Amino acid sequence: MDGLQAGPNTAPVDFIRTIVTDDLRSGRHTYVRTRFPPEPNGYLHIGHAKAICLDFGIARDFDGTCNLRMDDTNPAKEDLEYVDSIQEDVRWLGFEWAGETLYASDYFEQLYLWAEELIRLDKAYVDDLTADEIREYRGTLTEPGRESPFRNRPVPESLDLFRRMRAGEFPDGSRVLRGKIDMSSPNLTLRDPVLYRIRRETHHRTGDRWCIYPLYDYAHPLSDQVEGVTHSLCTLEFEDHRPLYDWVLDSLSFRPRPDQVEFARLNLTYTIMSKRKLLQLVQDRRVNGWDDPRMPTISGLRRRGYTPEAIREFCDRIGVAKKENLIDMALLEHCVREDLNRRAPRVMGVLDPLRVVIENYPEDLVEEMEVVNNPEDPSAGTRDVPFSRVIYIEADDFREDPPKKFFRLAPGREVRLRNAYFVKCTGVVKDASGAITELRCTYDPATRGGDAPDGRKVKATLHWVSAAHGLDAEVRLYDRLFSVENPGLSQPDRDWREFLNPESLRVLTCCKVEPSVAAATPGSRYQFERLGYFCVDPDATPGRPVFNRTVSLKDTWARIESKG
Ligand code: ATP
Ligand code: MG
Repeated sequence: MDGLQAGPNTAPVDFIRTIVTDDLRSGRHTYVRTRFPPEPNGYLHIGHAKAICLDFGIARDFDGTCNLRMDDTNPAKEDLEYVDSIQEDVRWLGFEWAGETLYASDYFEQLYLWAEELIRLDKAYVDDLTADEIREYRGTLTEPGRESPFRNRPVPESLDLFRRMRAGEFPDGSRVLRGKIDMSSPNLTLRDPVLYRIRRETHHRTGDRWCIYPLYDYAHPLSDQVEGVTHSLCTLEFEDHRPLYDWVLDSLSFRPRPDQVEFARLNLTYTIMSKRKLLQLVQDRRVNGWDDPRMPTISGLRRRGYTPEAIREFCDRIGVAKKENLIDMALLEHCVREDLNRRAPRVMGVLDPLRVVIENYPEDLVEEMEVVNNPEDPSAGTRDVPFSRVIYIEADDFREDPPKKFFRLAPGREVRLRNAYFVKCTGVVKDASGAITELRCTYDPATRGGDAPDGRKVKATLHWVSAAHGLDAEVRLYDRLFSVENPGLSQPDRDWREFLNPESLRVLTCCKVEPSVAAATPGSRYQFERLGYFCVDPDATPGRPVFNRTVSLKDTWARIESKG
C-alpha cells in the first residue's frame, strides 16, 4: 500500500482521501482516476480552484490520473473563449490533465445508444406530457407524484418515438425521455427524471447534428463511465442526485463503475462565486472583464498578482469537508502575503508624492545606495538606488500639526529615509490656497546607511524616490468587490448588485517608483516597501508602468518602531 500514501507536499488526509484509500484496499477500485468537469459557460473562479486542487491533488497523491472534461452537454451559452481560458487557468494553477482535453459532447452517440438500451430494459420511456404537466405530476416534498399516462406505453413504441425524436420529427419540448424509477420516492430527483429533451440549438462542437440533448444527471455518470473514472468528486448540491447517478450506472450493469463523492463548495466573504452572476457583472460593465483584478476568477486573481502557489496553499488550508461554510477573504490574502513575502523583491514607490528638497545636500550629487532586494532571500542580491537633493515622500507621512501618536515627519522632527539618511524638516512651502506643495529638510551626512554614530534614535522610517530618477507610474488600489460579507445571501429581498462596493477601485495616476523597475514586464511582482505587494498590469506601456496592488502589508515600520 506504500505507493498509495500521500506524498510529503500534500494536503492532510481528508474524508475523501480516506474513502479512496479504503476503496483501493477493499478492491472496489484498483486505480484512481478523477476528472475536473467544468461547464464552458464562464471563467473559472476560486471555488473551481478548490475543486481543481482536490481532483488533481487526489490523482497525484494516489499515482492516478485526472481528466479535464468540458461538460458541454448543454448547447446554449458555451463558447470557445471559455474553453481556452479554462485550460489556461488549470495549467497556470500547476496541474496537467491526462491526454487531450475531453468533451462530454464527444460521447453523444454512446450516450444515445445507452438510452436505447435503457428503453429496451423497460427502464426509460418517452413521455408526451408538456413541461408544465411533468412539473405538476411530480408532486412535492410532502406529496407523492403521479404516474404519467405514457409511463407504461410498450417498449417498442418508446423506442420508435425516441428514434424519431433524434431524427427531428417532433417539435422542441413536445416529448422527453424519462427514466422509469419511482414517482412516490421521497427523493424528488428519482421521480422519473427527464433524461433527454428535444432542443434545436446549434452546439459549439457538434453543430446541428443533434436536436436532442441529454441532461446532466444522465450524461455525467455515463461520461465518467466512458472515461474509466473511479471517483467523481462534486459539490454538495448533488448529494440528492447520487441515487440517480447510481441508478443510471447500475441499470446498465456497469462493473466496476465510478462513485460520486460530494464535498462542500467554497464560499468566500465579500464576493460571489456564481458564474452566472459573475457573467452579469462583466456584461453590465460593473467590472472591466472576467480578469478584472477585483473578480474572484482565477484570471482576475492572476492579474491582481496572486501566485498559483498562494492559491494552492489556500486550498490546502481550507481543506475539504462535508459542511457548507463561509471562508474569510482574509485567509486568501494571508496566503498570498506569505508567499510574496518570500519571493517578491522590495522596491520603493510613492503613491501620493510630496516633494522634499534637502537644502544641505549638494545640487549635483547623486549617490547610489546599495540596497538588499529581499531580506527573506539573500540569493536575491542587492541593487543600487539613486539618492539626490530632491526626493518624493508619501504626502501622508507628513503632518504640519501632528496628532499625539503620529511619529512620522513633522516640522522640526527627524526621521530616517529608508536605506539613506536621517532628515529633519526645517520648512513647509504652500501655494496660494494654503495647500502644502513642498517640504524643506536638512540631512545628517553621518547617518548614511540608517544609523546615527551618536546613537540618537528616530521613531519612523520613510520610503522615498529620487525626483530626478523616479519613474511615473499608475497604481490601481483595490478594495472588496462587495461591501457586505455575504452578498449572495445577506438580504434576499434586495438585489445582490446593490451591495457592490462603489469604492472597490481607486486609480492613482501620479505615482513615482524607483528606476530599478523600468525593466518590469506584466506579471512582475514587487513589494513596495510599507505599502504592500504590487504586480505589473498588462496595461503598462514602455516607460510607464501600471501596477495593481495585490494586497497590502500588515505592518508598517512606523508601527513596529513606535512600539520599541
Ligand atoms: P457556478 O455555480 O459558479 O456556475 P458550477 O458548479 O455550475 O459553478 P461547473 O463548471 O459546473 O460550475 O463546475 C465545475 C466543477 O467545479 C464542479 O465539479 C463543481 O462542483 C466545482 N465547483 C464549482 N463551484 C465550486 C465552489 N464554489 N467550490 C468548490 N467547487 C466548485
Ligand atoms: Mg454546473
